[in-house]
This record gives sequence, structure tokens and C-alpha cells, in this order.
Amino acid sequence: MAIRYYSTNRNLSFVEGLKPFKETVTFREALLQGQAPDEGLFMPDTIPLLNLGGIASLKGKPYAETAKFVARAFLHGDVPSSVLSHIIEDAYNFPVPLEHVTQRKYILRLDQGPTSSFKDFAARMMARLMSALRDEGQNLHVLVATSGDTGSAVGDAFHNVSGIRVTILYPRHEVSGRQKKQLDSIGDNVQAISLDGKFDQCQDLVKEAFADPELAPLHLTSANSINFGRILPQMIYYVYAYAQLAAGGEEIVFSVPSGNFGNALGCEFARRMGLPVAKLVMPVNENEEFPRYLTEGVYQKISPSISCLSNAMNVGHPSNLARFFDLFGGTVDRTGHVHVYPDREEMKKHIFSVSVTDQETKDTINQVYRDYGVILEPHGAVAWRGLERYLAGNDDALCVCLETAHPAKFPEEVEELLRLTPELPPAMQDIDAKQGEALNLPASYDALKDYLLKTRQEE
Ligand SMILES: *Cc1c(COP(=O)(O)O)cnc(C)c1O
Repeated sequence: MAIRYYSTNRNLSFVEGLKPFKETVTFREALLQGQAPDEGLFMPDTIPLLNLGGIASLKGKPYAETAKFVARAFLHGDVPSSVLSHIIEDAYNFPVPLEHVTQRKYILRLDQGPTSSFKDFAARMMARLMSALRDEGQNLHVLVATSGDTGSAVGDAFHNVSGIRVTILYPRHEVSGRQKKQLDSIGDNVQAISLDGKFDQCQDLVKEAFADPELAPLHLTSANSINFGRILPQMIYYVYAYAQLAAGGEEIVFSVPSGNFGNALGCEFARRMGLPVAKLVMPVNENEEFPRYLTEGVYQKISPSISCLSNAMNVGHPSNLARFFDLFGGTVDRTGHVHVYPDREEMKKHIFSVSVTDQETKDTINQVYRDYGVILEPHGAVAWRGLERYLAGNDDALCVCLETAHPAKFPEEVEELLRLTPELPPAMQDIDAKQGEALNLPASYDALKDYLLKTRQEE
């Protein structure tokens, strides 16, 4: 039986103006629609189990083997195995290093893909799944809000995929110079729009567009982490790291620098699939709405979000919080209103979250370089500091800390702190010479809508 997908808002019958979506859809529908008609997020009604023997047999094998193992468990009724194998081999053609740091602590470098961010893992698989599963002859318009890395990963993954147009919205003043270069220079079927506003506003405009019936003829779809197609690929590297490092059945700690919580959600799903995860550590930057909820029991989004060095995590209300709450029996909507609180004690058993300030982020970049000769960028540094706070000196645990972007994406910070210039990874060699202009728009829904309707006329 294929897994079906339900909406996180399905139980909100008592909310005025909201018609809860009580049906379920297939993976293909969830992938192509992005979000449920009631603005909830799609969730699998069953979580398949992986067996530990199967995981152990992946040791020493290429990343693609783990990817097939995990993806087949989810998609066996939805995507033919041979198609899935082809998609995976094509998507994962770059290294996934596990770097030893000290004791039993490792850094999983997810920064070796074409745009040097971990978002390549999800975007490349999702783009190929969409292309394979869309109706023949059906044009799609992918609309995505980005605080930097999603946009370039998604844009790159869909570049020149026929039948798919991509529009990327980013906050003009919140992306680094190199992130802007990456976004503006993709071209062809990929248009970048730089908005006079914050990331949250970009995200809100995108959500408004999805809910607008007048845009239905565009076949808009989302590539943000609200799309379940982005979550599935993000379960894989936890299983991969475990298979490479852990001895039969032992537990492992993961530290995941968190913004919209899609990455961490991949780990939570992996645990529910049977991966022996001792703790999911979810450090955030100064946007501390989630750790504050875990300690105080009341959830209050932060609006507007606070601008921090780890700019891809400047999120005042993580979109995937709805999925975390759902997994633990609660419901929160997209505005940040909690309708039913989840089981917080159960959540704390499995999840540790803490806020890391910009000053601590800088100190950590310095300290990790001085002590271990390892270069971190701000997101990875937040993860490392959060891991240390969780361990509090308990140094025997097997731990994997995720580095989600390449230090060369943040040359200013790294140069200022370490007085060295991070070497460009092969994928970024020609970045400074790239050309391209974004379209500038005010942060207003009407302006975006006009633009989107015009693209329709061009087709
Ligand atoms: C997107 C991003 C994050 C946050 O990931 P979420 O899945 O949104 O929690 C962390 N680091 C980098 C470099 C990112 O691009």
C-alpha cells in the first residue's frame, strides 16, 4: 500500500473562515500541490520502518545507496524503483564528507553540492521527482521564498528543466554578496526577484499567492520546505552518517542548525523510521521562539524576525513547526497561532533546543579553528555551540554536527575572524565573474501578482 498524505490543519473544524481538508492525497499530489488546500502541510499517514541490518549493510557504500534504501521505503508504491534509482544517481554526484573533529565528534559536510549548501540535497531530488511525476505537457511554475540558500539550490536544480518555470523571491538586504550573485545569475527559466522587505514577508507573499484562486491557471507549486518532497531527501543523510560511524544499534546525537526546521524534521522522521537517535539537538540563532517554548510551555512567534549572522536561519515562526507539533499531537497554523499544544514532555525527551547569539557564533568559529583547525561558517558554528551546550562536558557520546553551507559563502565573517580566505569549492570557482540582474519589487502582494500574471501571458 502506498503512503497517503494528510493536512496538519485537518482537525481545525472550529476555526472561523477555515475549511479543514479532511481527505488524503498521494505523494505525487502532495509534491505537485506543495501545501494542502486548507494551508496546512502534508504529512505521511504511515512512517515506514527501516531495519538495522539493512542500515548496517550501507557502511562503506556510496551515498546514493543509502538514498535508494530510504527513498524506496517511502515511495515504493508511488515511483517505480528504476525511475527512483535513476533520479538518485543523477542527483547525488558529489561527495558527502564526514570529517572527524575530536573524540567521537564528527562534522557532516553537506556543502559540496553545486550551490555549496545542504539545500542541494533536497532541491536536486525534488526537481527530478517533479519533472518525472508531472502530467505530460503540463507546465509548472515553482514559486519560492528564500533567505539565501534555498533559492539558489532550487534555481540550480531546476535550471533548464523543460516545462518548469521558477520564480525566486529574496529579501534584498538580508543576503550576502555571493548569495545574491548565485541567485541573480541563474537565468533562462529561473527569475530572481529582490524584494524590499524581510524574509518573513517574502514567505507570506508566496503563501498568499498559493491561496489566490486567480492564480490557479499558473499551476503554482512550492519548493519551500513546506513541500514534503523537500523533507524526504533530508532524512537520508542521517541514515548515511549513522551507517558509516555507528556500531550495531548504538545511539547517536545529531546537531542540526535550524531555521524553518525542515532539516531537523528529516532527523525526526529518521528516528521514527527506527534510526537510533539519542537526541536531536536543534540550535537556533537569536530567533529563540522554539527553545523558549520548550522551557516555558508557551509559543510566541518572533515578528519581525531578528537579523543574525546565520542569515538562513532568521525565522521568527518556522514553517515546519506545524509538522513537529503534529508529530507530537498538537496543531499550530501558519500565522503561529497554537490551536492544540503538543506533548511537550515527550518532545523534550527527544529534542534539545537552545539559542546561540551572534557573539557566541563568532567565538565558536574562532575556538573550533584554534582547537581543531576546522573552518566553520556561521550556521555550522551555531550547530557546534548548541551541541556543546547539550553535551555539557559528556564527551563520550557519538555525535554528528551538520555543516550546512560552505565557509566560502561567508568570506567576510571568516576573514574578519580567522584572518584567512576560505578556499572556493570547485562549484564556486567562477562565482565572482557571474552576471545577472534581479527584478526589484516592493514587498506588496499586488506587485508580485502582476508579475506572475504577466509571465502567464508570455507562454
Ligand atoms: C536553510 C538553511 C538552514 C536552516 O535549515 P532549515 O531546514 O530551514 O531549518 C541552515 N543553514 C543553512 C546554510 C541554510 O541554508
